[in-house]
Amino acid sequence: MPLKRSKPTLAQCKATTSSGERCKAKPHKDGLCFFHSDPKKAAELGRKGGRRNRHPYETPLEPVTAPKSAGDVKRMLAEIMAEIRSGKMDPKVGSTRGYLGMSLLRAFEVAEFEQRLEQKNELEKQAEQTEQTGKNEAPDSR
Ligand SMILES: [Zn+2]
Repeated sequence: MPLKRSKPTLAQCKATTSSGERCKAKPHKDGLCFFHSDPKKAAELGRKGGRRNRHPYETPLEPVTAPKSAGDVKRMLAEIMAEIRSGKMDPKVGSTRGYLGMSLLRAFEVAEFEQRLEQKNELEKQAEQTEQTGKNEAPDSR
């Protein structure tokens, strides 16, 4: 059975897109897809999308350095507070960043605790070793 090639445009929109290519959408009305049969609607949707995608707060993109210490996080949280209060930062964005800052602060605490524990263990090991060598040396010196 030969393929029917007489009507290749049957299930395809007749319009061409802004890039000059044939619109690949399914026809909705008069051989045109939903967008091309109602260009006003398409434009409206486009505007809505554009509005939604635009950043509500026009903050310049500054180079961001990751906080490396509890002090850095403290400064960052203080800046966030100030920027929210002055209206420079979206409170939603601010609360997300604040939450991350708190999490990071907690991680620093845990990391510091771990470090101290390691140091303590290391000191105890060294103390044990000197104690043992001390015991071993004691009978010789007597
Ligand atoms: Zn179309």
